[in-house]
Amino acid sequence: MALDHHRVQSVVAEIADEMRARTDRGEVAGYIPELSKVDPGQFGIAVADDQGFVIAAGDSETAFSVQSITKVFTLTLALGIAGDTLWRRVGREPSGSPFNSIVQLEFERGIPRNPFINAGAIAVTDLILSGHQPREALGEILRFIQFVADDPTIRIDEAVAASEQRTGERNRALAYYMKSFGIMENPVEYTLGVYFHHCAIAMTCRQLALAGRFLAYGGRQPSTGRTVVNPERARRINALMLTCGHYDGSGDFAYRVGLPGKSGVGGGILAIAPGQASIAVWSPGLDAAGNSHLGRIALELLTKRLGWSIFGA
Ligand code: GLU
Repeated sequence: MALDHHRVQSVVAEIADEMRARTDRGEVAGYIPELSKVDPGQFGIAVADDQGFVIAAGDSETAFSVQSITKVFTLTLALGIAGDTLWRRVGREPSGSPFNSIVQLEFERGIPRNPFINAGAIAVTDLILSGHQPREALGEILRFIQFVADDPTIRIDEAVAASEQRTGERNRALAYYMKSFGIMENPVEYTLGVYFHHCAIAMTCRQLALAGRFLAYGGRQPSTGRTVVNPERARRINALMLTCGHYDGSGDFAYRVGLPGKSGVGGGILAIAPGQASIAVWSPGLDAAGNSHLGRIALELLTKRLGWSIFGA
């Protein structure tokens, strides 16, 4: 169904104005030193449709660190490599725990609960790395994101990658702990190197909204007409985003926004309105669960005003 561009444009502009006027912004992620330098007063939003048309407002052209949002793309790649055998290494259940939690690994023999918590994304990265050099695996991930976004200019922010590499003790602990259960196939530091670098990919809201379109349109990348994944896989990735995309804030996000979504500690959120649009929002301040505070509020207003929740208007 064609988007009512005029209506979407006025809602998006109105939301950007409302978000910029707010003073409750949340806290920028402090545990990755490079991210703590980002100005919290920024807000961007972009809505992409199947024609490649993008409706945007605010700081939608400023590149930010997408962080965990890349987990949507690494999951897609890993399913392409391993198909359903991926689910032997990682589960599909919401964790109800923080993004970097280790506790459940002990009870589930080192198998992470889902591909979107850090442990799960590290296990997925390990699968993509198998049979390759780290540089090749990283190139594969970056090229896939450039392909779905239809934009070869997307890059890795090396300063952010180095910053996380220097300070990623918690992720190292998760990876070595999984290794002790035989979950990891590659040298842990290689897997982590690839993980830190793909989390450090920088994108604008416009690029991110364009990259998410294959999930909004049954697995097809609309501007090239090429199939990225089949419709069933797109539907299932959306299901995982809905149930697990916001860590222990996933239930609240579904309740308030009603769309599959994936957040990152850089303050971005990719949300999918199936058949309608792919949406990216960015505001660096986070809530207590590590999800963008104003990003979530903006999406809640957007779905309400446009009637886009998958659960009904
Ligand atoms: N690179 C981040 C980390 O591993 C990603 C976390 C996130 O965005 O939620 O801590």
